[in-house]
Amino acid sequence: MRAVPGRPEGFALVTGASRGIGAAIALALASDGWPVAINYRSDATGAERVLSEIEQRGGRAICLQADVTERGRAQELIREAEGQLGPLLVLVNNAGVRADELALNISDEQWDTVLATNLSAAFELTRQALRPMIRARFGRVINIASVVGPRANPGQANYAAAKAGLIGMTKTIAVEVARRGVTVNAIAPGLIETEMTAGLPDRLLAAIPARRAGTPEEVAACARFLASEQACYVTGSTIFVDGGLSA
Ligand code: NDP
Repeated sequence: MRAVPGRPEGFALVTGASRGIGAAIALALASDGWPVAINYRSDATGAERVLSEIEQRGGRAICLQADVTERGRAQELIREAEGQLGPLLVLVNNAGVRADELALNISDEQWDTVLATNLSAAFELTRQALRPMIRARFGRVINIASVVGPRANPGQANYAAAKAGLIGMTKTIAVEVARRGVTVNAIAPGLIETEMTAGLPDRLLAAIPARRAGTPEEVAACARFLASEQACYVTGSTIFVDGGLSA
């Protein structure tokens, strides 16, 4: 029987980890022993809260401020974290925004911001992260997509394009690096209770077979598996964490 390849020393970078799904993923990876770089754009207090929770549980983490849409920032961000935590072995592209509008009325800015944050930043970070991962012959890229993209959602043409693009990118990069011990997967959450979905009408729950919204921890459990050694043969996949919505 072929042994599951062991995990080298290195750290996990989670973008947009100051709250919501990213914060839950940072905490879950830390509890599996990963030192974690908590990226945030503006919510320093939220990021510090996640850091102190990790430290209280005996884990190791640092906070890193960066707007992931800033061109050229990805390389700097990774270098900054590597200086403190060693090689980057797990990248979770979680930072995301939405700017909903019917396609007829979407402004250039609404289109560009959503594509830049949800798709282009993930590409830029991934391509910078692949080098240390290939060198270590161990790497995990986890892209937080959405049920929107594979599924239509009126008012979200920009978001759907970005998330569908993220899934396509995931598959292709996964195939490009599959021989190198690096896996690339996407998680497609359904409706998850976070600030992003605060205020959405309750009637949306009726469409979900599980009849409830998911929690950030339920998404984090999936990320934790994908980051593990045991997930070494899972690559190019999109795992739906959606209470059956996409089924
Ligand atoms: P939140 O709005 O609660 O959190 C978003 C996080 O992203 C914040 O930490 C925010 O940081 C960060 N962020 C936003 N823009 C940037 C940027 N340019 N650079 C760095 N960080 C940034 O969102 P969720 O937790 O709900 O969503 C997380 C991911 O999950 C997103 O990709 C979203 O599209 C996806 N998703 C969410 C679903 C849901 O139902 N909630 C469903 C499907 C997918 P700061 O506050 O510091 O700016």
